[in-house]
Amino acid sequence: MKPYRIAAIPGDGIGQEVIAAGIAVLDALAERAGGFRFAFDRFDWGSDYYKAHGVMMPADGLAQIKDHDAIFFGAVGAPDVPDHITLWGLRLAICQPFDQYANVRPTRILPGITSPLRHVTGPELDWVIVRENSEGEYAGVGGRVHQGHDNEVATDVSMMTRSGVTRIIRYAFELARSRPRKRLTVVTKSNAQRHAMVMWDEIAAEVARDFPDVTWDKMLVDAMTMRMTMKPQSLDTIVATNLHADILSDLAAALAGSLGIAPTANINPERRFPSMFEPIHGSAFDIAGKGIANPVGTFWTACQMLEHLGEKPAADRLMRAVERVTADPALHTPDLGGTATTQAVTDAVIAAIRGDNG
Ligand code: NAD
Ligand code: MN
Repeated sequence: MKPYRIAAIPGDGIGQEVIAAGIAVLDALAERAGGFRFAFDRFDWGSDYYKAHGVMMPADGLAQIKDHDAIFFGAVGAPDVPDHITLWGLRLAICQPFDQYANVRPTRILPGITSPLRHVTGPELDWVIVRENSEGEYAGVGGRVHQGHDNEVATDVSMMTRSGVTRIIRYAFELARSRPRKRLTVVTKSNAQRHAMVMWDEIAAEVARDFPDVTWDKMLVDAMTMRMTMKPQSLDTIVATNLHADILSDLAAALAGSLGIAPTANINPERRFPSMFEPIHGSAFDIAGKGIANPVGTFWTACQMLEHLGEKPAADRLMRAVERVTADPALHTPDLGGTATTQAVTDAVIAAIRGDNG
């Protein structure tokens, strides 16, 4: 049986802890399901690597992982390395050259978890946020002149291309079409940003003509935060720019109970390059090394990875196991108000996988 070759990049802080948990769960799942297995190659890239070598990953790093079936990524960020170095040096250094332009972030309230929204229970919050992941505000275009002087000027240009916007909006419409409610909300700030954001709105209207079966609407991003909190049931699939969706998806994760449960898939839909799967959260150095990081976001993104690999039944089996565990408050980590450890949650998910006869 040929294994799936997975490049595991745990990175920094709790990235190490949650990726170790994710690998244990994926191995248990392969053993239980039969028919496939994993070969994990581990790469020790990240802030410690940076402190030793002056770079977050080696110069031939992309060549080392370009033939893997997928990338399983933890998080980057360390207290003593500037965040823009860790982010641009590793995470964006993989996402952008591998053209993982669709960042897909499902949000649901899992069994046993309560939303901070008083009026919301499980089925009323079921979203997928599609984040443009290759350009926009994070295109890296800009600069600083007269740095440090009184007359300093600094820019970060939000660069949008017609092809880049069209492909992400098309991806979002396709995804909306595949979901039961067939509903898409396109988020911009086209009242204030009158060039690129107006182009987004125009392209959305053009692409929408190919999807008459999808109901769609437009929202300004500021009003969107209100709608997410006040009328979550009115939303389903959401597409937004790199920056807007970055912010909205942390809000979404919090509304679903915790940043620790939220997953992300960075997809190259054409499959010219490997896609990358990671929890939404960062390296959380406030809790790193304590053994209390919530591994659920990593397990959920492992489900996304399994679906991407074509192992949908295994993905469903893993999600069932995760939901059985979240349903038990004794297995909640501190971010969910409990006292469980990463290890206890991982062991319980593995036990649920072994006990699942579905
Ligand atoms: P963070 O996501 O690391 O943490 C935010 C808060 O959520 C913290 O209180 C943390 O303890 C908690 N939290 C996050 N994940 C959790 C989990 N799995 N279980 C329990 N609690 C969890 O964001 P931050 O504190 O703003 O950033 C810390 C570092 O991570 C920074 O260096 C930042 O640049 C980096 N970061 C990296 C990524 C990434 O690699 N994709 C994403 C976000 C932030
Ligand atoms: Mn983020």
